[in-house]
Amino acid sequence: MIRVSMTSLVLVLVCTSAGLVILLWLLGEWRRSRREARLRSRSRKCPLCFFEFLPAPAPPRAPCPRCGAPTE
Ligand SMILES: [Zn+2]
Repeated sequence: MIRVSMTSLVLVLVCTSAGLVILLWLLGEWRRSRREARLRSRSRKCPLCFFEFLPAPAPPRAPCPRCGAPTE
């Protein structure tokens, strides 16, 4: 049987759980930044009032929902 002191056992458990929490946090941040970048790439900005919006079916030239100006 492997003899392990209580201190090292607690240390290993704490380090493992802290590493898991940090790994999950980094994964969540990475997924959030990917989602925001995808939304930003699909969003349109009105050249008249600078209002940013997301056209529902993403037509190539959706008019601004606030002022009706055509966007690119
Ligand atoms: Zn506008």
